[in-house]
Amino acid sequence: MKKKKKKAIKVKVKRAKVKPLSLVTIDNGLSIPSIKLKCVGVHKIQDKMTCDRLYFWRWVLNLQPSRVNLNFWFGSLVHLGIELLCASEPFSIISKALDEESKRLLVPYTLDARNSEEVKVQLSIAKLILKVYNELNPCIFKGYTVRATEVRYKRRLELSPVDLIGTLDLVLEKTRQLSLSEHKTATRITQEYFTRLKFDKQINSYAIGAAQEFGKMPKNCLYNVFRKPSISRKQTETTDAFLTRFEDDLHARPKFYFLQENIPFGKRSVYAVLQDIEWAVFDLYSKYSFLNVDKLLNPFNWSRNDRACFNYGVCPYFLLCKNCHNYDLYLRYYMMRDIRHEEELEELSKKRIVSAIHRRKKLQGTYKLKKGKRKR
Ligand code: SF4
Repeated sequence: MKKKKKKAIKVKVKRAKVKPLSLVTIDNGLSIPSIKLKCVGVHKIQDKMTCDRLYFWRWVLNLQPSRVNLNFWFGSLVHLGIELLCASEPFSIISKALDEESKRLLVPYTLDARNSEEVKVQLSIAKLILKVYNELNPCIFKGYTVRATEVRYKRRLELSPVDLIGTLDLVLEKTRQLSLSEHKTATRITQEYFTRLKFDKQINSYAIGAAQEFGKMPKNCLYNVFRKPSISRKQTETTDAFLTRFEDDLHARPKFYFLQENIPFGKRSVYAVLQDIEWAVFDLYSKYSFLNVDKLLNPFNWSRNDRACFNYGVCPYFLLCKNCHNYDLYLRYYMMRDIRHEEELEELSKKRIVSAIHRRKKLQGTYKLKKGKRKR
């Protein structure tokens, strides 16, 4: 008997159709996309390496959640405080500067009552951390002299016509050797935390930038980590009582709260990171060059890495990814992210730059428009 021929099962894969947002809609409604790639900083590279879709939301559509990210806000305050401590400013000035910086950072956000209370407590915590740190380490970088602060660097990459840009907060010198410093706030510090820094994109990019600007590779990075409170407020405790208890804990366990690690820069590890950056950016640049604007603005053309969705709590773009077919309905929960560099402005078209600055100026009241460029 003749065997019946099996019918081949055909699987049709349909390309997901997402209504591409017209530039005008985004512009009027919320945000202006960057459709060119002219520069990369460490955050862009880190996001690209974490998840392509995350890169798309943050660096192509230029979105950021309209709810304040208190972790980011807290880190920025401590960072500023350390910079001022390095400049030997008295604590009263630092405290005032933190109040002002906090206000500035919170301008685009509306805070509900719960968040406002949290902001007050966290601001006091940040000040306490800095105050106690200053008491215990009156001379932060003993034996080092400050060679330069706020050094901007720009290096043209080899595999693509894109600039690697960034700012070195502080460059130190000791016996003619350069050193860099970096400060972070963290809640959990595991054993691998410092081991991983050997190939960390951020500090190795800074080493590349320093070599470019000063003509020699820095020897090491003094990496300071400030741990957030490991004690929490009791239900019956007042804010003042909690802060007093926290201050006592800072004094009692300084080695738990303040960690410093000396990370040496090796030529091989810096070279290895530079290669990672080159290829990641080459990958990105090819995409920008190959896709037309509609395709570039389609999130389905940016692959997801679902392992990263819950890396640190929930990814801020989870809502958009979860509802990707209708993501434009959820854009009201997002706003345009801060455009920090002139190079980034160049990634937007002229017409869009003007409207972006206009919108931002209205929002923050701190931007001036001059010949199509932003000045702070
Ligand atoms: S939710 Fe997950 S897939 Fe979506 S951008 Fe974030 S990390 Fe990527």
